[in-house]
Order: sequence, then structure tokens, then C-alpha cells
Amino acid sequence: MPVAGIRPGTPDQSADLVIRNAKVYTNDPRRPRATALAIRDGLISAVGDDADIVPVVGPATRVVDALGRRAVPGLNDAHLHVIRGGLNYVLELRWDGVPTLRQALAMLRVQAEATPPGQWVRVVGGWSADQFAERRLPTLDELDAAAPDTPVFVLHLYQSALLNRAALRAAGFTRDTPDPVGGQIVRGHDGEPTGLLIAAPGALLLYSTLAKAPTLDEADRTGSTRHFLRELNRFGLTSAIDAAGGFQSFPENYGTVMDLARRGELTLRIAYHLFPQTAGQELDDLNRWVTTVRPGDGDAWLRLNGAGENLTWAAADFENFTEPRPHLGAYESEFEKAVRLLMEHGWGFRLHASYDETIRRDLAVFEKLAAEGLFPHGNRWLFDHAETVSPDSLDRIAALGGAVSVQNRLSFQGEAFVARYGAPAAAEAPPVRAMLNRGLTVAGGTDATRVSSYNPWVALHWLVSGRAVSGRRLAAEHNRLSRAEALELYTLGGARLTGEEEVKGRLTVGSYADVAVLGADYFTVPEADIPHIESVLTVVGGRIVHGAQEHQGLAPELPAVTPSWSPVSRFGGYQATSAPSLTGVHQAERVAEAVAASDEQRAWRQARGLALPGQGGAPLDPCFS
Ligand SMILES: [Zn+2]
Repeated sequence: MPVAGIRPGTPDQSADLVIRNAKVYTNDPRRPRATALAIRDGLISAVGDDADIVPVVGPATRVVDALGRRAVPGLNDAHLHVIRGGLNYVLELRWDGVPTLRQALAMLRVQAEATPPGQWVRVVGGWSADQFAERRLPTLDELDAAAPDTPVFVLHLYQSALLNRAALRAAGFTRDTPDPVGGQIVRGHDGEPTGLLIAAPGALLLYSTLAKAPTLDEADRTGSTRHFLRELNRFGLTSAIDAAGGFQSFPENYGTVMDLARRGELTLRIAYHLFPQTAGQELDDLNRWVTTVRPGDGDAWLRLNGAGENLTWAAADFENFTEPRPHLGAYESEFEKAVRLLMEHGWGFRLHASYDETIRRDLAVFEKLAAEGLFPHGNRWLFDHAETVSPDSLDRIAALGGAVSVQNRLSFQGEAFVARYGAPAAAEAPPVRAMLNRGLTVAGGTDATRVSSYNPWVALHWLVSGRAVSGRRLAAEHNRLSRAEALELYTLGGARLTGEEEVKGRLTVGSYADVAVLGADYFTVPEADIPHIESVLTVVGGRIVHGAQEHQGLAPELPAVTPSWSPVSRFGGYQATSAPSLTGVHQAERVAEAVAASDEQRAWRQARGLALPGQGGAPLDPCFS
């Protein structure tokens, strides 16, 4: 249906979808701005002003008026546990975005009442006590009061988990349960577990406890994944690079997402990595994979991108910043075998490493293999996290052709990091500017869903402002990015990690038609409003996968969330609040201004003998209405 100013063109070249009247940020230096995009066969077929697009609007072209809003390339989270997150999404009560503990506990109370016997209430990451106005965790008594009979498991980052009494019973923790290696079951004077579990510093205790809760059947897992991908689309996300994770075994736990890909029902492009699950048997897994599957297997929607983020368990340095940095044992010999195997078979990898102490040891192994000509061998590889990476290590990464993927874990853990390592260390954690100055490929992401929130705008806000969710400024001035730089990390950065920079991350002719039209203009809103941005129209491969506000209803409806007691059916996912420029201090100021203005107006009108507004139907003076 043609709209004003755009007339039908010749049918053979006509577009499937046109987005017009937009402020398009193309991220293409040759044509940085445009107002219209035409899309055909899932690719961008034209970029220009509305008038330029006229010839490709045919009788069957769907034309969407963006109402002057900002359009950007679809976002790409370069480190998201999206496949595992999808399998569990509808089971979880998400505290992402919840501004007060009071509200969080109210949600918990309602959900506990709705949860059938045998099931648990799970709050699994995406929040931290720093985001609450109360600045604290719930107490165990508060959990028991909110849920006297329903097991409740609350994960706080990878630092701790809180279990109410019913969950302690359901998980079978007693005074006789021994502490696992790297974990602590906190006990009272009577020797009984209190309900507090601590990662000291390993998180295995936390997620192995979570694994005792019932999971979903296949039909519900499918629905759960679809609803999670839509939730990501809500924020303009169109791609993610999956980082696998604990209890995410290949191929067992990939069937759901592979079936969705086969049926063309993914609404997010996913590149995934393979992560050996069992300590001591990592080489068995890697050996099996390098001989049965290959990086690049799949298609533009779902494809294998290499190994990681763990290659061997012994090399993983858990990032519980409330605990001392873990001392890793001698992991190098197994680790070298793993990396050698991958390189010899043409596999790239990603590698979890939080601390420079770990990164230096990893680099020594890579340099040894480089001396044999095995590294980088044309394979893409990268470090994940790298909060405390040193300038010297960055030089070594650059020399070996590596990349870095950074996440806003300090949005949620910034207070703990500052308490242990001090503000000067936090100012460079991670040193994003130093990475960019070396010409390294840097990609942005969240590390959701069990630590950070999956909301990309919280991560973009952290990159731009350097602030944690507590409001504390962490990053040094020089280590903050411009909005365009931050967006580059979140679009082209991820595309480079999967070798897709020619087709993703820019709005150019021939690129994938992955676009987000934003409810508020990322480039001009006050900085504090950035975490409150949502997409009003998300397009992936030319398909509308999310529509809100004026574009509500443009995306096909999904089947309802199942099971019916799911927290998602009641609360949804991220709990949006109004942007600060519209609320809080600003709103109070506006009310005060409005009151002052109306008092002034009243006095002015009275002085001139004019009727006051609302009195006797006198026409309002247009200067004051
Ligand atoms: Zn990691």
C-alpha cells in the first residue's frame, strides 16, 4: 500500500518492505544518513531519501512510516548465553530493571502463590542489589515470608545464591552436606544450612543447585526460546554470539534451537560456540567435535563459530569480585593440547579470561604455538571479558591477531570491584580505549543471562557513561566511548567476530536487512535515558519480528507462554521504567515549573481583567495554552 510521496514502481524490482520517514544511521561513511530503506529477499536493496525509494515501491510492497524516528543497524550482543537462556526463560522470574527490592519481593510473593507444587520460583541473574533503591539483597526471612511453601532460588550474580527453607528441603541440603570445592554452604550455630550459598570463588555450587529444579518439556522449551528471542528483539537485538556455558552440552541441548532454525522460526541470528562440559574430559569432547562438525556449519541464522568460552575448566578464572582472584593451578599442558587441536583443525575459539594474570599465561601458550606456525593460522580467536588486561597483554593479543569481547559486568558488579581493587583499577576495567587505540577488533555484549541483564541499552549506557547501575561513575573519562563508538562495538564489532562484517552491522545495499527503529533517539537523548530505550520496530532478514507503539501488531503473534503459571506470562521480562528525563527529579522540576507558570499566568490575566482558564468557557490565550 503506497503512502503519500511514494508511488508504485515496476513490479520486477519492487521491494518487499520499505521503511520511510526515518532518521537512518547507516554506519556507512559513504552515506552516513538516509531517511528510507528498501528491503528485498531479506537484504537491503536501496538506501536513500524517501524520494529515492519511490521506484521500488510496488503494489505488494509493505511501507512502514517510521514517524521520523531513529533507525540503526540491528544490535549484536557478542557474548550472550542465548541458547541456554532461551531454554529456561519462561521458568524464570526476571528482576532485570526492577528499581526497588520492595517491588522485587512483591513480584516474588505473587509468583510463589501462582507456582504449582513441585515447581520452584527462580530468580536467575540479570540484576544486582546495586540497582535497588534499598541497595541490599533480600534477607532469608523476607524470602521465607514471601514464599512459605514454594521453593525459591535467587541467584545474585555468580557471587551467591539465596534459598528459602522450602528450597533447602527440595535441594536436599542438610547439616551433613559437605561444601563442594570452590563453594561454601553457609551454616548457622546449629550447623544447619542457612540458605546462603557462596561462590568461593567457583560458581559450580550455585548452578548445580539450580540444576536440581525441574526443567521444561520439549514443547515448552521451544515456546520459551521463541519468547526469549522476541524479548531480545524488543530491544533491537537482531544477532547474538552464543558463549555456551555450564550445563549447555552439545549436541543434547541444541536440539530446540536447531529445530527452530530448520522451521525458519528464529527471530535472532545466532552464532554459537562449543564448550566442553566435564573437567578432565575436555579433550575427548574437542576431539569428537573437530572430527564431526566444522565452524561455519549452518546458515545465516544459526551457525557454528568455534569453541569456547571455556576450553578446559582448569583455565577458567571465575569473576566473583567480592572474593580474591582465584589462583589457578598448572593448567597449561591440557590447555595447550586443546588449543593445538583446534588450530590444527582450522577452528577458532573464544576464551573466558577476567584477569590479566590468566591472560598472560594463556598468551604464553599461544606464543609457543605461534613459534611453530600454528597461530593464528587464519582462525578467528578472541578473549572474553578481560577486565584487568594490561597494556602489555593487549600488545601481545594484537601481535597474535586476536580480538576482545567486552561486557558490562561492572554495571552490576562495579561496587564489588571498587571495594576490592579500588576506583583507579575500575577506571580501566576493561581498558576499552586502549584496545581501540591498538586497532584491535572489539565487540560489545552483556554476558547475560545469569550475571548481567540481556538489555543491550544498559550495556551501551555503561560504555558511553562509564556508570554502573548504582549510578557510580567507574570508567575514566578517556575510557568512555562516544555513542557512535559504542554502537560500533554492538554492531560491526560482533559481525567481525563471526566473519560477517561485509553483510552485518551497516545499513548498506546488499547487507542483511537487520534494522531497529528506536522509541527514543539514542544519539540525542540525555545520557541517563539510554538504558530506557526500546525498539518500536525490529526487522531481521526483512521480517518484522517486533512492533510496539504505532507499530504494535506488525509482528506475527506468538502462541501464549506455557506453562500457564510462568512468571513471564505474568510479568514479562525486563521491567521497564520511564526514562529519568520524564520522571524523578526532572518530573518534579517540571511540575514546579508548571505550577510557577500557571501562577504567573493567573496573575498576568487577573492584572488585565481577563477570565482565568476554566472559568466561564473563555477562550484560552494561545500564548499560554
Ligand atoms: Zn565468561
